[in-house]
Amino acid sequence: MAWDFSTEPEFQQQLDWMRDFVREEIWPIETVFEDLGQDGFERAIAPLKEQVKERGLWAAHLPPDLGGQGFGQVKLGLMHEISGSSMFAPSVFGNQAPDSGNSEVLAMAGTEDQKEQYLYPLLAGDLRSAFSMTEPENAGSDPTLLQTTAELQGDEWVINGHKWFSSNASVADFLIVMAVTDPEAHKYQRASMLLVPVDTPGVTIVRDIPTMEHPYEHFGRIGGHSEILYEDVRVPKDALLGARGAGFLIAQQRLGPGRIHHCMRWLGVSRRAFDMLCERSLTRYSHGSLLSEKQTVQNWIADSAAQMQAARLMTLHAAWKMDTEGASAARQEIALIKFYGASVMHDVVDRALQIHGSLGYSTDLPLEAMYRFARAARLYDGPDEVHRQSVARQILRGYEAPADGVPSEHVPTRREAARERFADLLEAVTAND
Ligand SMILES: Cc1cc2nc3c(=O)[nH]c(=O)nc-3n(C[C@H](O)[C@H](O)[C@H](O)COP(=O)(O)OP(=O)(O)OC[C@H]3O[C@@H](n4cnc5c(N)ncnc54)[C@H](O)[C@@H]3O)c2cc1C
Repeated sequence: MAWDFSTEPEFQQQLDWMRDFVREEIWPIETVFEDLGQDGFERAIAPLKEQVKERGLWAAHLPPDLGGQGFGQVKLGLMHEISGSSMFAPSVFGNQAPDSGNSEVLAMAGTEDQKEQYLYPLLAGDLRSAFSMTEPENAGSDPTLLQTTAELQGDEWVINGHKWFSSNASVADFLIVMAVTDPEAHKYQRASMLLVPVDTPGVTIVRDIPTMEHPYEHFGRIGGHSEILYEDVRVPKDALLGARGAGFLIAQQRLGPGRIHHCMRWLGVSRRAFDMLCERSLTRYSHGSLLSEKQTVQNWIADSAAQMQAARLMTLHAAWKMDTEGASAARQEIALIKFYGASVMHDVVDRALQIHGSLGYSTDLPLEAMYRFARAARLYDGPDEVHRQSVARQILRGYEAPADGVPSEHVPTRREAARERFADLLEAVTAND
């Protein structure tokens, strides 16, 4: 009977070390990030990355032959729960989005040359990557509508298109571009992935789009979301990542781990906000009592704890299923936690912000930034509605409509059948009356 909720003691020691390390070494960087700028930030985290490597926790999501630790998704989930508390910590641990998902694609679909050129330097932290799929003109939630094209001309692919929200593209060294290579093929076999160095002629990073998370326009900073023009971009034939026409297949395999990594990080955000909620309730006094003594606040604490526990177990369960049965088998579990986890993070952060009143709304606390971050989670890697739809469809496959249209639990119909079945007994009981 294997049904175990405990963590191995040796790994628990690593997690304990991580918790202190993230809080003491990485949280302080958040407060001076604007002053440091991108270069200063890289210098600040360089010695921290070395400590993580010495500790054997670097790039934990990949197998040892690719320079990772081969921990699998469950251990990674427990790690991300801690590193997710700060948007900078995943970079220090070598598994920040989108590089973690992109390295999994390279590991899975890349040729040995592509691994040499892109994967190993990515894992070493010497290169950065971006995933360039969404286009402003088409619904990103339905990637069969993609319009960017890659045409094979002689020994080169020629890429033309317009993308946006390619996260980290303005600090990336290379892009994984999703483009239509076979317009006449089946709608799920039209697109392929291509590896494009950012400095290839014809690639223009137009801007980092100001967003709810970063309302003021900056260029070339980690966490930016770029708009990109691809105009007659020429890359060699062997820039194709995976098989021609396999773009959707690979995207599904990439997005599975990528989504679960996000969900794991959200546990860390929720926990940090929850701690702030509880702490504030014990100090703020209003209308004759501490906020912790108000039933509404107690409900917030209890509801948040319940939701976080549910999200944590769902996330770890999805991770466990990925480890034991593979990403495809865990599709439903991943879709479930993608939309549920996003809503839990939003609710917990919202309550923590509310209890702090105007202080919560101010930038004197990280809550308003967490709130803006949380809102995006309901959109990226597929909006809530698409994941709900996918979960509902998968669940409904296990049901069929009753032939006569009568609900199978219809009591009068069941009673009639039961009366026939127990006719003798019912008759005897009636005769005894
Ligand atoms: C912070 C952030 C980072 C991102 N990073 C990347 C990245 O690195 N690379 C990349 O390629 N893209 C990235 N994206 C883009 C993201 O993947 C898309 O925004 C997402 O797929 C939705 O596409 P869309 O914005 O075109 O919305 P649309 O597809 O236009 O959808 C708009 C809305 O329509 C509704 N809707 C859509 N389909 C359905 C349905 N079936 N049923 C009911 N309602 C529906 C939903 O409410 C949805 O929110 C990022 C986005 C954000 C916000």
